[in-house]
Amino acid sequence: MNDIEYLQKAIDQARKIVYFTGAGVSTESGIKDFRSKDGIYNLYRKYGVSYEEILSHDFFFDHTDIFYEFYKESMVNRQAKPNPAHYYFASRKDKDVTIITQNIDDLFFKAGNKKVLELHGSIMRNHCTKCNKFFSIDYIMSYPGNIPLCDNKNCHGIIKPDVVLYGEQLDYDTLKKSILALEQSDLLVVGGTSLKVYPAASLIDYFHGKEIIVINNEELDYIQYDQEIKITYIKGKIGEIFSKLK
Ligand code: NAD
Repeated sequence: MNDIEYLQKAIDQARKIVYFTGAGVSTESGIKDFRSKDGIYNLYRKYGVSYEEILSHDFFFDHTDIFYEFYKESMVNRQAKPNPAHYYFASRKDKDVTIITQNIDDLFFKAGNKKVLELHGSIMRNHCTKCNKFFSIDYIMSYPGNIPLCDNKNCHGIIKPDVVLYGEQLDYDTLKKSILALEQSDLLVVGGTSLKVYPAASLIDYFHGKEIIVINNEELDYIQYDQEIKITYIKGKIGEIFSKLK
């Protein structure tokens, strides 16, 4: 049985599935990840700070202009379209699938998935830091200045994207739902993530099902699991892999 047949069989036979994903599922849609050799990482040289720093809570408030310059250039790509790694489970209406994603790009929702837990928030949601008014991504991107400000009279607060920056807590409700889904599932598919961002990466420890299938274009053999769970690695481009499934 080849990798594709193996994955197909595991999905077909599973009762409840969690698809735990990261930036690697969106690289085939034209959005750079962080840690691949072609990832965003190289762009940080331009700003002379690490990406953990530029994408941190403190940096946002101390250097909002630089944050937004980087964010708009590197983190937001409104032309990006979902690829088969986003579409596949939306088409499997016969399966109970929860998608847990570290991505902020909205592509799982764009692909028509309903049960999507966005651990790190979304570029689509933005709020004024003073009056909490909601703003769309279009407002952020078409704002005439670099730092988008609230349009409420007498407010003019800085608008902040609802994305979880380094130094910020993950949303409690999203975490709770993610843990529940992992505890109840029998198959965990981990796709396109380096599993290096915490606490998100540690969530997979809540999985007590039968099997984990890891799909990545690079070796990820450092995943440690102290439980008796079968781990299968499939190496390759995740969009291409899902495009071959029925
Ligand atoms: P990461 O950059 O640390 O790791 C991406 C992983 O995906 C790497 O292991 C890489 O080898 C693999 N990969 C890349 N392209 C692939 C492909 N086509 N097929 C299979 N595997 C592929 O990403 P991460 O683990 O998600 O952590 C980075 C953090 O940055 C996350 O918290 C996320 O919020 C954020 N981020 C999000 C986006 C996005 O929303 N699209 C983009 C960049 C970073």
